[in-house]
Amino acid sequence: MKIVPIRAFSDNYIWTIHATNNKRVAVVDPGDAAPVLDYLEAHQLELDAILITHYHNDHIGGVNRLKEKTACHVYGSKYDNLDFCDTLLTDGERINLFNQEYQFAVLHVPGHTLGHIAYYDSANELLFCGDTLFRAGCGRMFEGEPEQFYASLQRLAKLPANTRVYCTHEYTLSNLAFAEYIEPNNPDIKELKVQCQQLRDQDKVTLPSTIASELLTNPFLRCEKASVVERMRQLDNVNSEQAHSIFASMRRLKDNF
Ligand SMILES: [Zn+2]
Repeated sequence: MKIVPIRAFSDNYIWTIHATNNKRVAVVDPGDAAPVLDYLEAHQLELDAILITHYHNDHIGGVNRLKEKTACHVYGSKYDNLDFCDTLLTDGERINLFNQEYQFAVLHVPGHTLGHIAYYDSANELLFCGDTLFRAGCGRMFEGEPEQFYASLQRLAKLPANTRVYCTHEYTLSNLAFAEYIEPNNPDIKELKVQCQQLRDQDKVTLPSTIASELLTNPFLRCEKASVVERMRQLDNVNSEQAHSIFASMRRLKDNF
């Protein structure tokens, strides 16, 4: 299995899923066509499919040009209803790539946007989650409600621990700074921060993560921990122990961090 990030803009990754024969690929959220076309040409690859998680321009900006230049099939959210999609997907639907080499279940995970979907392959233990879950963080809550976004994150948190998590942005270090602010005594956050700082110093990617790592280090998945509840009481006067209230307050703090 070969999954390669193509860099785009300042901090986006366009994940490229290779077929075993290494001749065909699919890409996730191509915000820009140029780096994808360069990659296809440099490695003599055909683009079979595009998977879209949500409608923001840094995720879809390259789709029309890639469609023009290749015969690729575009998948996206039924809730977003983008006109370039060949197949519109709803929760629970399945798609397969390269004659069943990859089989993705569609998870509707509203919160960052209302139509946001994620693609989960249980056999290959892969999750492409767009701007919903980031390494040690989560997306901004542009459209959803806290209960809804929290439920979406919980759904991802309950996937098998070994699942590799491919998110769209390199936000890890700034997320870890916030994670450390929420949990100053969490040794897993400290250790991950050192590892990721080393990677970034060498201009390397800090992804994918795993669900296991997120459960230990991502404060947005740790809203039920007593120490986090207590800390949020100190930081933001949260006087509810309900996880989605803790989440709402934490998300607000992060927006201004
Ligand atoms: Zn977005």
